[in-house]
Amino acid sequence: MTSNYSPHTILPHSLAENQAVEFIKLDDVDEISAWKKSAQTIANNVYQHQITYTTNVFVPLTFLCRNACDYCGFRHSRIPLGEEYLKPEKIEKILETAKHHRVSEVLITMGDKPEKKYPNAQKWLLEHGFNSTVEYIYYIAEKALTFELLPHINAGTLAFDELRHLREVSASMGLMLETISSRLTHRGLPHAQSPDKNPKIRMTTIKNAGTLKIPFTSGILVGIGETPKEIVKSLFSLKNIHEKYHHLQEVIIQNFQPQKHTPMENFSPPSIDLMEKIIIIARYILPPEISIQIPPNLIQGHELRFIEAGISDWGGISSITHDYINPGHKWPPIAQLTQITREGGYRLRERLPVYPSYLNLDWLSSRVYNLIRTRNLVTKDGYRKR
Ligand code: SF4
Repeated sequence: MTSNYSPHTILPHSLAENQAVEFIKLDDVDEISAWKKSAQTIANNVYQHQITYTTNVFVPLTFLCRNACDYCGFRHSRIPLGEEYLKPEKIEKILETAKHHRVSEVLITMGDKPEKKYPNAQKWLLEHGFNSTVEYIYYIAEKALTFELLPHINAGTLAFDELRHLREVSASMGLMLETISSRLTHRGLPHAQSPDKNPKIRMTTIKNAGTLKIPFTSGILVGIGETPKEIVKSLFSLKNIHEKYHHLQEVIIQNFQPQKHTPMENFSPPSIDLMEKIIIIARYILPPEISIQIPPNLIQGHELRFIEAGISDWGGISSITHDYINPGHKWPPIAQLTQITREGGYRLRERLPVYPSYLNLDWLSSRVYNLIRTRNLVTKDGYRKR
């Protein structure tokens, strides 16, 4: 299949939704290759042959979640009494190790609002002196700052006041849009049991983060039953919200991977060819200042294809903790990632969880900003100082 459009006739970022859908359905290798070259040029013009990453440590605050997404291997519903949340002492040990390894980002992540579904979660919080999961997140993020580690908080959908509260102690925050399609919340589809996967609620959180000037990460999850049109609509939704608030520092394009013991364990992940086309078209749709990230542990062996398709970030890499979302996929060692990136003709550069253009008091609380400056954590151009 070929298209009626070509990268020579369409200016970047002026692509219409129907043209993007048509591109995703293309199978003409030469035509795809022409679009790919063009997407790579767009990325090179902004990112100057540089691919970034951050060193992180994963703090899974709780595996309980009030949702039940069909593909999720993170959530556990049977947790021994008293272990509903990771205890502060255990987390402190993780933070100590992270500091020792000179990690920059603490990725604080968890299931959505477990206390709304599990009375034992609420009990645990109260017994430990917290009224809500958000209060506990704040406590841990504050603790991380004392270790000179920068929190990136990924706490699911949050209300305006919760975001405002957590902004004080975070360098950046995130919420995957995953998909703008509410169809996937219908009976028998992956988000049917997940009230927080209502795209309207997710877009409200993303919008509120913009109003509050929080450097933000969002993204889409590919291969969970969405159509090409829905993929394109998701990308356009992120583009549109960013054009209003300018807060999306990066968009993750993540390929679904089947997890054992989940309703989708026998589903196939999306093909590398499809993922490549989505990266190309995302580079065309999204404003150039939004970095496009693909997790390298989910496309191992194909990294160069994605560099050529226009990505500019590999995301968080941890040498201390594993990928709790995709535990079967080990992160590559940094040395290997450096080598691969170099083979593609690019330079691998470490960044903080907050991108260089957001490193100022407009976007960060004075507490986080002062820590970064007084501890001399960044180079003159805003990357991680080693
Ligand atoms: S909301 Fe997140 S943690 Fe909860 S079930 Fe869905 S994917 Fe898993």
